[in-house]
Amino acid sequence: MFDLSGKRIWVAGHRGMVGSALVRRLAADGHAVLTADRARVDLMRQAEVEAYVAAEKPDVVIIAAARVGGIAANAARPVDFLHDNLMIEANIMRAAAEARVAKLLFLGSSCIYPRLAPQPMAEDALLTGPLEPTNQWYAIAKIAGIKLAEAYRQQWGLDFISAMPTNLYGPGDNYDLESSHVIPALIRKALEARDSGAETMTVWGSGTPLREFMHVDDLADALVFLLQHYSAAEHINVGTGQEVTIATVAQTIADTVGFTGRLVFDASRPDGTPRKLMDSQRLLALGWAPRIGLRDGLADAYRAFQAGNGAAR
Ligand code: GDP
Repeated sequence: MFDLSGKRIWVAGHRGMVGSALVRRLAADGHAVLTADRARVDLMRQAEVEAYVAAEKPDVVIIAAARVGGIAANAARPVDFLHDNLMIEANIMRAAAEARVAKLLFLGSSCIYPRLAPQPMAEDALLTGPLEPTNQWYAIAKIAGIKLAEAYRQQWGLDFISAMPTNLYGPGDNYDLESSHVIPALIRKALEARDSGAETMTVWGSGTPLREFMHVDDLADALVFLLQHYSAAEHINVGTGQEVTIATVAQTIADTVGFTGRLVFDASRPDGTPRKLMDSQRLLALGWAPRIGLRDGLADAYRAFQAGNGAAR
């Protein structure tokens, strides 16, 4: 067990959905949390990252910083997704390694797995087949990050670990209708349909695809657990093990928001992959379990959206 008490914890990427959830959680636990605005340290510049780590002397580093975006953004800006993410993770890991931090946690995502990986996707599916081409830029950078953490572990003897979260939602999400994921998009659509008195609300695709969703506060809880209880070269999946159809998610969101009209499924929009579930048995076997069910989690995300366009509480 790695003891977090008295440790100085740097959350790189503290403004994002995941980073802000981590800051909330760590602060609530009474930890000393370090954050750096872009004006203080540009994560793309190695000298700035090294100077920051040398000055602030974190004991623990969490890499929640990344260039993220949906399918359209990946297609339009492949250099940003590949180059920027490589720079961010390489710079932070090198600075943390030189400072001999006690622990580092790197975050990836489920898109690191091959497009046709067997479901549910276990950790050992990594690098067993071709990637989904639409997000390969981001995925390649994240796979390099996992391997870099593993390499520092092997060559420098450092306690660097990697975690791969499933689809996330919650406060601080992106609510832009063309670039967002399904949950924030449908929260916004349901609210607009309710307020305009519309009879229908449009859901993309057939409604039959299966997805696994996790509230970002559950992720923060899992990551704190992993910092304390996980130390191994292999990355570890962080999911709930619960699958739900898009139609069910859409209806639950409509109920949450109070939209009483009909859901219309727009077949001209893509379904994407029919099923995307992570195998999180390793994490669950360590004794961690999610606490926030989908209905409660959606109610919380909706509250946050109303309170300030999805910004973190
Ligand atoms: P994915 O998990 O990578 O496929 O990403 P998304 O969260 O964008 O989409 C998940 C599923 O929700 C897909 O089957 C979409 O077609 C469906 N979906 C239904 N309505 C919407 C919507 O308004 N926006 C998005 N992004 N997806 C939607």
